[in-house]
Amino acid sequence: MQAKFIARLRDKLGARYVLDRPEELAAYDCDACVLIQKAPELVVLPKTTEEVAFVVQTCVEFNIPYTARGAGTGLSGGALPMQGGVQIGISRMDRIIDIDARNQTATVEMGVVNVWLNEATKADSLFYAPDPSSQVACTLGGNIAENAGGIHCIKYGVTTDHILALQVVLPDGNVTWIGSKNRRSHGPNLVGLMVGSEGTLGIITQAIVRLTPKPESVKVYLAAFDSVQAAGATVSSIIQRGLLPSALEFMDAFTVRAVNEAFHVGFPEQAEAVLLIELDGPANVVDHDEITLNAILNQHQVSQIRVGATEAERLALWKSRKATVAAYGRYLPAFYLHDCVIPRSQLVPILEKIEEVAQRYKLTIGNVFHAGDGNLHPNILFDPADAVMVNNALRGGEEIMRACLAVGGTLSGEHGIGIEKSAYMHLQFSAASLDKMKLVKNTFDPKGLSNPEKIFPMRTGCGETHAATTPALFSGEGLWI
Ligand SMILES: Cc1cc2nc3c(=O)[nH]c(=O)nc-3n(C[C@H](O)[C@H](O)[C@H](O)COP(=O)(O)OP(=O)(O)OC[C@H]3O[C@@H](n4cnc5c(N)ncnc54)[C@H](O)[C@@H]3O)c2cc1C
Repeated sequence: MQAKFIARLRDKLGARYVLDRPEELAAYDCDACVLIQKAPELVVLPKTTEEVAFVVQTCVEFNIPYTARGAGTGLSGGALPMQGGVQIGISRMDRIIDIDARNQTATVEMGVVNVWLNEATKADSLFYAPDPSSQVACTLGGNIAENAGGIHCIKYGVTTDHILALQVVLPDGNVTWIGSKNRRSHGPNLVGLMVGSEGTLGIITQAIVRLTPKPESVKVYLAAFDSVQAAGATVSSIIQRGLLPSALEFMDAFTVRAVNEAFHVGFPEQAEAVLLIELDGPANVVDHDEITLNAILNQHQVSQIRVGATEAERLALWKSRKATVAAYGRYLPAFYLHDCVIPRSQLVPILEKIEEVAQRYKLTIGNVFHAGDGNLHPNILFDPADAVMVNNALRGGEEIMRACLAVGGTLSGEHGIGIEKSAYMHLQFSAASLDKMKLVKNTFDPKGLSNPEKIFPMRTGCGETHAATTPALFSGEGLWI
């Protein structure tokens, strides 16, 4: 990397915020998908939109690729700089600029951590609904770039449903606002395009987000079952009967044990499956829904019910759910997590397939997922030092992903495609669709400098790229890039 380029950035941002020592860069060489590693050549930590724009303009001038990074909790390698170049860390842009309680909106910078916004809106009895399990660490920028989901998205919608307007540094270095604080219905939806674009169409620096009034009453049910089949059938019945819970989460027997061992929360040890079901709304509606829910649970031979009615009880249940990945860490040091979405009617057959894959490849797989959305999360545990286990995790993961697609599923519900799943895009999308997506990318970013090689490999036609990328990433040998 040219000294002139680095000096230019140091002049603007200050030397402290331009990192190039190997030990500094090493901290940025992976995200939470630890299977893929790639360190940047330079890390910059801008504080303002103007500084981000300056960095992008300088990268364009020197023809150097750049990749945005929030907290690095992504699970698809999205924040990895696949072509080296500059990592633009957004974490110092951490101001909540305005909370407009009367209009139920907030204006925020993109380094704000998800949970901070909820803390800040508490006093106004408002909340920001998308709540990934990583919300104590992940940034709103990362959430918007990945169109993040969370346990409450079954009722309240995913990130895209809560974004009104975005300030973006476009790949040519110009800064613009897209969208509006007020509802609009004209012209192409550029905000919709930008949400979920994984940093490939520019860098988001601020957003105006929608806030939601806190419900009057909230109750969480823990329902234990003697079989996965009974839990799966309960999920279908809940939706069929017209109940709209604010959360509907599934945990398998292994996960229940892991959470109990780690956090001593007293989940029913004998259960083969547990559902966490949250009802919220006006108190009389919750009371009414509770009667329907109880009837459904009994119809499916629920073996145990526990109700979290106080805030403390509810928080304890959700804290355990959100920390399951930490609990898995007591078994093996790393995990490979898929997040295909399948039709809810296919939950049980796919869980059986996951179990079969686990046995055949001698893998430990924990299932904890957003059942109401059909958004699976098989956590394949592995030891990175064990090459056979790593290879089995990759092979098994790929089989699970293909099985999900075969029943009409999608590659990702909330973790994005990144680099990890880009080789599989052709399994879900036609060549014509992929070409249109690439045209959009090229229109925004004709030089291909903004987070290259993500979502769909950009350098060749789709067919060729998949053939070239798949063995490199998933052979088990070429994995540690
Ligand atoms: C334990 C655990 C639990 C998780 N649970 C959930 C869950 O329930 N739901 C869910 O959706 N996800 C979940 N995730 C995945 C992850 O937390 C989300 O994808 C999150 O949105 C990533 O945010 P981040 O700030 O860490 O982004 P990063 O990992 O830093 O980046 C993610 C992507 O966003 C891009 N990006 C980051 N900031 C910007 C910006 N300002 N402008 C443009 N592009 C940008 C990056 O280039 C990259 O492509 C979980 C992860 C872990 C480790």
